[in-house]
Amino acid sequence: MKYPHLVLKSGRDRSVYFKHPWIFSGAVKTLPKAETGDIIQIMDNAENLMGYAWYDAKSQITGRVFHFTNQDSEIDDAFWIEKLKRIWSWKTNLFDPSETNCYRLVHAEGDRWPGVIIDIYDNIAVVQILVQGTARIKELIGICLTDLGYEFVYFRIKEITQNQQDVKESSSWFGDEPAMPIDILENGMPMQVDVVSGQKTGMFIDQRDNRLIVKNLSEGTKVLNTFSYTGGFSLAALMGGATLVHSVDSSKPANELCEQMINNAGFSENHQAFNSDAFDFLKQMDEDYDIIILDPPAFAKSARTVENAARGYKNLNLQAFQKIKPGGLLLTFSCSQHIDREFFRKIVFGAAADSRREVSILQHLSQPIDHTINIYHPESEYLKGLLLRVE
Ligand code: SAH
Repeated sequence: MKYPHLVLKSGRDRSVYFKHPWIFSGAVKTLPKAETGDIIQIMDNAENLMGYAWYDAKSQITGRVFHFTNQDSEIDDAFWIEKLKRIWSWKTNLFDPSETNCYRLVHAEGDRWPGVIIDIYDNIAVVQILVQGTARIKELIGICLTDLGYEFVYFRIKEITQNQQDVKESSSWFGDEPAMPIDILENGMPMQVDVVSGQKTGMFIDQRDNRLIVKNLSEGTKVLNTFSYTGGFSLAALMGGATLVHSVDSSKPANELCEQMINNAGFSENHQAFNSDAFDFLKQMDEDYDIIILDPPAFAKSARTVENAARGYKNLNLQAFQKIKPGGLLLTFSCSQHIDREFFRKIVFGAAADSRREVSILQHLSQPIDHTINIYHPESEYLKGLLLRVE
């Protein structure tokens, strides 16, 4: 098959293009004769083949490369099946299913597959499709996941149709539909997840390692978990011996599932969920928590909103520094792709200085092993956090 060509302004030796999967519109010399969602070939300025990409005529990211090669290739069913099976063969070895049966099988650009996220919850695979074109191979992904042994496959498709503004979302089961919520295990913790009405693919499995850290530090403590969603950190703290845990989230369904999960685990007497804005809660609350967790949603959704986002993170952290007990531990996170680790650290530093408390960094926190970071795509490292001690 012959694919339309996109030709770049510069040569392949230019390091900026070296295996970074995004082709920005400003780098393009000649556009392909193609429609959004088509597969195209990427050529350097001497018309040497560099790889294959999904084309987007409307986005600033004109091409998303899913295959770097200088060989003519056939992007057929076998290509995608091989890609999925190759990732599956090493990802599934990372976990003992009797301890942890929810993990990220495919982490988009991190796993060299732009636009595709696949999260596994026991026997359910949830496929998030975020790049036009990929929806075309959804049946194939469904068949392949079923062949690999997953009983249920759920698709969540987000198509950005015009100027990145107009987002069309749809979801569907590939075959049978299981009852929600379902039981899963994370580091031996019994949790519940609703992949249909939940946020993202159902749960924030990227906090797995950090929940374990909380579990190991919480014996005898009073814990505040803000932006608690379905209470993963809260359950971890309770299982680690916390005497009282408060969960704060503005989403009612998230709080309901949080309470159900904590009741099922037998900790309802040591836990309370608050349906509240986390900023308001922090302003009004008493000053007696030993551990505070701040895990807000991405404040910076694009490069344009970074400044406001930075202000949001600073205010949030300042409140926590002002209120936490002396000797308390603060776990603070940002999952904004547009705010890197160094910048986040500076924001938190600013908040610490304003609070005039003594603050020490005990640990840098990150995303877990299954959320692969493509070394040529620094943006796939999106979750950063700090474990701090506040005197
Ligand atoms: N820590 C969670 C994931 C947090 S995701 C976990 O481990 O599972 C971010 C959460 O923040 C979502 O549940 C969302 O409902 C909530 N949220 C967003 N804005 C909020 C606000 N202003 N106040 C409180 N919660 C908010």
